[in-house]
Amino acid sequence: MDAKDSKTFNVDDPATMKTICTCPEMSQVETKEAIKYAQEAFETFRFTLPRQRGRMLRKLSDLVHKNLDDLATIITWENGKPFAEAKGEVAYAASFYEWFGEEASRIYGTVIPASVAGNRVITMRQPVGVCGIITPWNFPAAMISRKLGAAIAAGCSVVIKPGGETPLTALAIAELCSQAGLPKGVVNVVTGLANTKEIGLELTKNPVVKKVSFTGSTAVGKLLMEQSASTLKKVSFELGGNAPLIVFDDADIDAAVAGAIACKFRSSGQTCVCANRIFVHAGIYEQFCKKFTEKVKGFKLGGGFEESTTHGPLIHGKAVEKIEKEIKDATSSGAKIVIGGNKSNQGSNFFEPTVLTEVTNEMVFTEEETFGPIAPIYRFNSEEEVLSLCNSVNVGLAGYFFSKDVQRVWRVAEKLEVGMVGVNTGILSDAAAPFGGIKESGFGREGSLHGIDEYTIVKSVTFGGI
Ligand code: NAP
Repeated sequence: MDAKDSKTFNVDDPATMKTICTCPEMSQVETKEAIKYAQEAFETFRFTLPRQRGRMLRKLSDLVHKNLDDLATIITWENGKPFAEAKGEVAYAASFYEWFGEEASRIYGTVIPASVAGNRVITMRQPVGVCGIITPWNFPAAMISRKLGAAIAAGCSVVIKPGGETPLTALAIAELCSQAGLPKGVVNVVTGLANTKEIGLELTKNPVVKKVSFTGSTAVGKLLMEQSASTLKKVSFELGGNAPLIVFDDADIDAAVAGAIACKFRSSGQTCVCANRIFVHAGIYEQFCKKFTEKVKGFKLGGGFEESTTHGPLIHGKAVEKIEKEIKDATSSGAKIVIGGNKSNQGSNFFEPTVLTEVTNEMVFTEEETFGPIAPIYRFNSEEEVLSLCNSVNVGLAGYFFSKDVQRVWRVAEKLEVGMVGVNTGILSDAAAPFGGIKESGFGREGSLHGIDEYTIVKSVTFGGI
């Protein structure tokens, strides 16, 4: 569908900076219309049987797998991540449709012993209604699917506003939803870049929308929460992180290096669960940094479609500028560049994977989520000290640590102030595991047995005694 005023915006390839195509620049008008379609569809979709919705979701999962290469091509093109990584993202996205296809029939209520003699109380879980879904560019398929799978399972209809840099993946998913048999109006996509603010205002203020689920920065999350307060919508927020990754002196160092590399440099560091601060015990600091840097030396920067590429470009020039500023700030306070530190000659959005040592808590990484390929490595001396450093930030999404001491594993997992902990692993994404943060990383859980709760309301029914 075109925008009513025929306005468009460019979708660019971040590797070459060439324009891929144009997309409709929708506004409040189209958003309002999409909400209306979603409301009409909800009136009947809410009463479909959970088994029916489960079958549609399983079909959608199969279709995503069937079109895996095409979807991955779109992701690499508009997001820049290497093709192999894009294929991994598509499989991850499909896993949410499969998971929620199975969960749809398990949206159970309860029978509760009443306090009043003769009364009976039951609860039922019902779909919350029309949902506004706002997602970022860094996982163009997975961020939508983690929300959409749960919403469909619950019987909700949705209006999706995808990241302005990556609208094409969202449109492809909407087409597959239609092929999977989802009724017209259940899944709607509103694309925009210059008009993002007004689209967001409509999604958060329109009284027909009963729920807003947002993944993105903490600053925008706060704004959307404020806007949603005007109609007291149900909200869930997956926001920015500042993940610590700790390597204790009792860890398997090679496993810790492999985990830290995967965690830090996935999507060139542009994930919310990437390690932002790496803390290594003083006794193994030199050994760890040497092995870690050796691995970084093996990276191959390049366009996502080149087979040898291990790491792609950043999403845009602003991201490159941010990285340069952070490196300058850290080195001016004493951090040392071991490898990288410069823009790459591959193109204006490419930056060399960088390792910084002698990093301290006074440097910029304590306050800022880097969202790029810098690995700042801190030195610590005790468990107490490192936990205090890890927990000193105002966000808490993911945290990781490597240790072979069973008692320490329990202790540290309990004490880290984050929503998700990886123990002896740098990767924790799994449709079966609850995903979400605490503090200013937001609230609500996606995936897992909890994901559907965000799209349902609990209604209690009391039967009077006779
Ligand atoms: P962002 O600026 O907050 O944008 C995310 C989405 O919100 C995009 O669709 C964007 O649209 C939209 N948006 C921006 N301003 C808006 C407004 N006023 N009203 C309505 N929508 C608005 O975030 P980003 O920089 O693109 O993405 C990176 C951030 O996302 C990082 O902080 C990262 O940690 C976080 N993230 C969190 C998770 C998680 O699960 N916790 C996962 C991935 C990413 P436009 O693109 O059109 O501006």
